[in-house]
Amino acid sequence: MATFDATKDAQDVWAQMLEYLKATHASAVRQWFSDLVPVELSGGVLIIRAATAIQQQYLMSKGRDAFNEAVQAVTGKLVSVNFICPGDAGGALARFGDSYDDVILSPDYVFENFVGGPCNRLAYTACRAIAEMPGKAYNPLFIHGACGLGKTHLLQATCQEILRRSASTRILYLSCDTFINHFMDCVASGDMNEFRFRYRHVDVLVIDDIHFLTRRDRTQEEFFHTFNTLFQANKQIILSSDSRPSEIPELEERLVSRFNSGLVAAIDRPCYETRIAIVSKKAKLRGIALPEEVAAYIARRVESNIRELEGAITKLQGYAMLNGGKYDMDVARGALGDLIPPSERIVSIQQIIEQVTRFYNVRLADLQSKKRQKSIALPRQVCMYIARQKTRHSLEEIGGYFGGRDHTTVMHAVRTITDYRQTDAPFAAHLERIEAALIPGQVAAG
Ligand code: ADP
Ligand code: MG
Repeated sequence: MATFDATKDAQDVWAQMLEYLKATHASAVRQWFSDLVPVELSGGVLIIRAATAIQQQYLMSKGRDAFNEAVQAVTGKLVSVNFICPGDAGGALARFGDSYDDVILSPDYVFENFVGGPCNRLAYTACRAIAEMPGKAYNPLFIHGACGLGKTHLLQATCQEILRRSASTRILYLSCDTFINHFMDCVASGDMNEFRFRYRHVDVLVIDDIHFLTRRDRTQEEFFHTFNTLFQANKQIILSSDSRPSEIPELEERLVSRFNSGLVAAIDRPCYETRIAIVSKKAKLRGIALPEEVAAYIARRVESNIRELEGAITKLQGYAMLNGGKYDMDVARGALGDLIPPSERIVSIQQIIEQVTRFYNVRLADLQSKKRQKSIALPRQVCMYIARQKTRHSLEEIGGYFGGRDHTTVMHAVRTITDYRQTDAPFAAHLERIEAALIPGQVAAG
């Protein structure tokens, strides 16, 4: 029978396609691809059934090109793929139609694939709690942290878990840009009622990267009313940002206080143990069994952000494929040997002094003098603090260098600056700038 053949063909083709994808698009292949079911190959179309609506939407938007390429390579014909999902697969998001389609959830961004650690504990726990009881646990939840530390992952995981528990929950997940663009379009076309209806009749509103809401008075105004309407109706609001509410430039005070009124949770850089766990998890997701030793090697070499950890895995994957498919230390060293571990990236005290004196417009002689006015004492303390973080000099050595001060003075400086850094945002930004200008293992640049 024709359908039987069509199914059998589909299975053969799919099996070969997977091999093709592994060989040519290794870093895009996921373990959950094994849930995909080839349904039928007929009329020049291969139909693939995804397990969930989220997988289907994701594949339609991100997987089409690679899958089309694969099916054509395998069949040698101009075949295309189409993705379907079971009728009851539920759990899709509220959508605005195709002009605002950045609301695709990634099947990778679920709680099972998120590694909890000291760096993200509060944010992670809060998201878990919210997924169980939207609108009841913490409201609003405001997550902030630097780029690549898992904010989007957590937001999407929360959405997916809410939908898994109750597919009929109306969730609106979008980037701040989409909110702004949609607002402007509706203002232009006079569809404000429509806009308000959409945003104010949801159970959960999730906006990623809310820090983009700066300097747009009317959008802030509209968002303020949206926020209040939802909040008063006990609807869940989750926001992410690259900085805490009070540090978002030009955000109206009333929004700052609304954002602060629920739970504000920071995500910090992951520690070494968490990085090892993340590397192992990411590798597993791609179907790679990474020896612990290799995971640790990667975690030592990349410490700033997790996107870079993933980049390292991609690099390793490519290198391993060219070298017989093994993932041992030799392969890891070959692939990542040129990444110098942060602990070996040393800056010199001269470099630190050069950057600090330039920034504060003071002279080294002043830093080494007994002068105690703030304009000199602060840069001196900054020098001591950075020297402590970035060089291997002892407290005594550092104190000695700055006018023969003893080690307790240096300890006091480190504590003082650590404290300012946490409490004074403009000062923290200055420090970032000074530190960014320090280039490890090189002579101070101009
Ligand atoms: P952000 O939105 O904060 O810039 P993302 O959520 O996009 O960061 O995270 C960047 C990458 O790092 C994603 O692939 C994400 O899955 C991964 N990632 C971040 N934190 C974790 C974690 N704790 N466990 C597993 N993966 C993580
Ligand atoms: Mg993000």
